[in-house]
Amino acid sequence: MTTTPTLEFELLPRDLSAYRQGNTGIPYVHRFDSGRPGPHVLVNALTHGNEFCGMVAATHLLDTAVRPKIGTLTVSFANVAAYESFDRSKPFDSRQLVHNLNRIWSAAQLDGSDDSPELRRARELRPVVAAADHVLDLHSTSQEVQPFWVYPQFERNAKAALAIGRPSVHMVMPQGLGSGTPLIQHGLFADAGHHGVALVAECGQHFRRASGELAIEVALDFIAHFGLIDRAAPQQREQRRFELMKTCMVQTPEFRFVRPVIGFETFDEGELIAVDGSDEIRAPCANCTILMPTRAPIVGREAVYLTKPIA
Ligand SMILES: [Zn+2]
Repeated sequence: MTTTPTLEFELLPRDLSAYRQGNTGIPYVHRFDSGRPGPHVLVNALTHGNEFCGMVAATHLLDTAVRPKIGTLTVSFANVAAYESFDRSKPFDSRQLVHNLNRIWSAAQLDGSDDSPELRRARELRPVVAAADHVLDLHSTSQEVQPFWVYPQFERNAKAALAIGRPSVHMVMPQGLGSGTPLIQHGLFADAGHHGVALVAECGQHFRRASGELAIEVALDFIAHFGLIDRAAPQQREQRRFELMKTCMVQTPEFRFVRPVIGFETFDEGELIAVDGSDEIRAPCANCTILMPTRAPIVGREAVYLTKPIA
């Protein structure tokens, strides 16, 4: 038996039309150049249309007129079309319209001939992402779990995420996601020799006020980390890190977990986690920790991330 707790909508979409114009020629992209040398930092919101915390943080940065003292700050709202489709009777549907905007950042897809609202928007945003030295992509989770970072396993990313220190949980990806190219692995951000930091922050559950509050803090800490604004150094917190071992995709409509899960459950090596038609998904290591289990399996989309704790 699965239980579906009643959703509380502490965060709901607000009208973003006042933010459409921007100043870059690209809708919903705002850029502030200090006129002094320094890094170019991009804070991006709404890669997924129903992940409102990023919208809270991006509007906060714009409404409170956060301006860089060095370098350049860009603030963007990515999938506003999906965001505007939000329907509280189907609150998870506005994640995307057609494509997952966080899986289509390969040159092959961006240069290809496929078309969708997300591919069009990714092509429009491509120079925005490529122009940035450092990228923070703000996300949230469907389940009520603790916030965490997600990033490719490069020293530069780990250093920044550990220095910022909140979220205090990290999912690092030695081999990428395995299910497409996320924004934070676009172009040079996938290059081991590049200098640019690119992090996802999963700030809590989509519709929680606290997720928006955390997203504001993470965004300000990220901007301050690169010296664009002054801010008190982040508090030291104990950190927990997990390495992504495998991304499991939903193969059949029969996919189901063997027990109710929301994320951060652990399994012994070999223990059954889920069944998918005739396939069994078993823990590949001791203390296997699952992250972002799907709440409603859809064939062809991610089912669950299998990770192992990094000692
Ligand atoms: Zn997301």
